[in-house]
Parts: sequence; structure tokens; C-alpha cells
Amino acid sequence: MEVIAGPENLRESADRVRQGRRSVGFVPTMGAFHEGHLSLMRRAREDNDFAVVSIFVNPLQFGPTEDYDAYPRDLGRDLTLAEMQGVDVVFAPEAQDIYPGGTPAVTVDPGPLGRRLEGRARPGHFAGVCTVVAKLLNIVGPCAAYFGEKDAQQLAVVRRMVADLCLPVRVEPCPTVREPDGLAMSSRNVFLSESERRAAACLYRALRAAADAFASGERAVPGLEATMEAVVLAEPLATLEYATVVDEETFEPTETVDAPARAVIAARVGKPRLIDNVLLQPPVGNNGGRRGPEEA
Ligand code: AMP
Repeated sequence: MEVIAGPENLRESADRVRQGRRSVGFVPTMGAFHEGHLSLMRRAREDNDFAVVSIFVNPLQFGPTEDYDAYPRDLGRDLTLAEMQGVDVVFAPEAQDIYPGGTPAVTVDPGPLGRRLEGRARPGHFAGVCTVVAKLLNIVGPCAAYFGEKDAQQLAVVRRMVADLCLPVRVEPCPTVREPDGLAMSSRNVFLSESERRAAACLYRALRAAADAFASGERAVPGLEATMEAVVLAEPLATLEYATVVDEETFEPTETVDAPARAVIAARVGKPRLIDNVLLQPPVGNNGGRRGPEEA
């Protein structure tokens, strides 16, 4: 496995692969790997001749009061884990490699989808995500890029950017990897104390409760929201930010689930802010059939 820091060197390496008519799969990450990241790498490895993983904690997507400096970093451990998944190249640039002139003057506007929910809670976040993902896609030039459904709104924003800007890449969604109690794996989970870690499972419990209500025929979003709120309110260490149901593609609010939708939740458990989601897929024949298999 090769480790490359410079964008030019990375581009040359990927060029050689493409010249041999071999496919490049790409997994953008911020490092501090867990099983969720590794599952994306294995998909990229299986689907392609050559797998590239980037490790870059992108300053542009962190707000001024957020945890950019404290974000967990462990390059040595990450490299070992990437190599074990059969990754060919790790691209690990420094901030000045990606933003040589400091904050870029030209950035990608994520549009209305990027201003809802997470975009509202974290102003500028999705512009930072879109800008770095566009840059990384341009540097790596992959056939396919792999994103986790754990960050469902990010996945939707990236899909929309790729469609609207005609970026020549296939976006491949990958299922959320969870701990045995249902907590979605996240690099930020290391910040949870033991009691907070136990409490954090309430996000998934709330989503499951909504998914169960949905499976039993509940289609009204206020009812599904109340179900989720009750679960999180019962957990004293958690502070709910939002729990709602939105259209799967646009993340627009919806009153009734009659097309594929996401139950989405954000809460603070102690200091860490956690997010999670599940797909609510109306039975075939009742949904406009926009998405694949049922997750919830
Ligand atoms: P991050 O390093 O947090 O920016 O995440 C890099 C990629 O891994 C993103 O596409 C995330 O959606 C994905 N990811 C993070 N956590 C999980 C998880 N628990 N399961 C699946 N994918 C994940």
C-alpha cells in the first residue's frame, strides 16, 4: 500500500491505473477508522481494480465552535487498518495541500438541501463537504465513490452535487454499521463517557420505535416524531435537537409517509453531538418505488 500526501502524485498514480483501463474506487474519510469506514473500503476493493482512501480532516466543514482541533486523529493505526482491507493507496494530504491559498474563494453551494436539518444546525457545513468532495473527486478521478448511509443527508447532498454538476462518478451508498446495542459507529463515539455511551443507544431505539410504528401502519409524521421524542426524553443524559421524517431525496419535511422517507435524529449525549437515521420504505405498490430494499 502506498501513502501519498501530494495531490499531483496522487493524480499521477490514478492516471497510471486508468491508462491500464483499470477501475478506481474511492472512499473519502476523515480517518479515526472504525468498522463503518472499513466496510466502505471493502466495497471499494471488491467493486474495483484499485482502491483509494483519503484521510483528511477538512477544516472547511467545521464551524468556529466545533471540534476541528479535538477531532480524533491516528494516522499510524488508520494505515494499518486500510492495508488490512486491501487498499492500494491512502491519500493523506495536509490542509495546505488541499487549500494552498488558505480558504478557497470559489466553493460549492449545496443548495436548499444543504440548508435543512444538519445544514441548519451547522451553517456552512455542507458547502465545506461539497467543496472538499468535489476537489477530492477531481484529484482522484474515480469511477465510483463510496459513502455511508449513516450520514444520509451528506449522501443526498453529494448525489445532488454529482447530478447537478455532471461529475463523472458513480455514487455508491453503503449501509450503516452499528454496535451490538444499535449505536451507529462514529469517530466521535470515543468522546462518550461510559454512562453516555450507554445512553447514546437511545438514538437508534427512537428510530426503531418509529420504524416499528411505521411497519404497523403509522404514516402521519407528527405521530412518528412523537414516538421518537418520547424515547429520547426518557434518557436523562440525552438532549434532543431534532427527530423528524423527511423525503429521502430532497430532505424536505413531509406530513405523511407515502414515498421513501428517512427518519432522522440528532441529539447531544454529554458533549458529543450524534446523528442517525433509518429508511422508511412504504410497501411496493404504495410508494412511487424510488428506492431499493427496505432498511427499516
Ligand atoms: P467520516 O470519516 O466520518 O467523514 O466518514 C467517512 C465515510 O464513512 C462517510 O461516507 C460516512 O458516511 C461513512 N461512515 C461513517 N460512519 C459510518 C457507519 N457507522 N457505517 C457506515 N458508514 C459510515
